[in-house]
Amino acid sequence: MSALPFRIGFGEDAHRLEAGRPLVLGGVPVPHAELGAVAHSDGDAVLHAVADALLSGLALGDIGQYFPDTAAEWAGMDSRVIVARALELVRERGYVPGNVAVVVTLDRPKLGPLRADIARSVAALLSLPESEVGVSFKTSEGLAPAHVQTRVTALLVRAGEG
Ligand SMILES: [Zn+2]
Repeated sequence: MSALPFRIGFGEDAHRLEAGRPLVLGGVPVPHAELGAVAHSDGDAVLHAVADALLSGLALGDIGQYFPDTAAEWAGMDSRVIVARALELVRERGYVPGNVAVVVTLDRPKLGPLRADIARSVAALLSLPESEVGVSFKTSEGLAPAHVQTRVTALLVRAGEG
């Protein structure tokens, strides 16, 4: 058991984008996306980084250890399952998420209209109020037009410290 009342987690994820595939971010399907994620699972780069942030905050490794991308059973899987598992591991160790900050780097389409939907979706998965999920959008300035990258920090709070 950690001696710290608070722990910081950090997660990062990226997927190559290709035509003819769906793009899902934070559990929210992105409408009018010309390109979607190439992935073994549903390719939700936000949820993959959220799960890694939860795990890293307690030094529990990364999602590749729990959901190997060579396992047929995880093919096309809903990444909400991955977040739920990471959250379960965090709770088992006596911590809960306090707040999370999500940064998505994507050139097209503009995600601004989806900010509230993504915040609400991630908040619901983590049993947090929407106000505890910050969502920022960046572009690569044309450096990586067929690429989505995400970064997530998560504050974990030891149960009883809130
Ligand atoms: Zn991923």
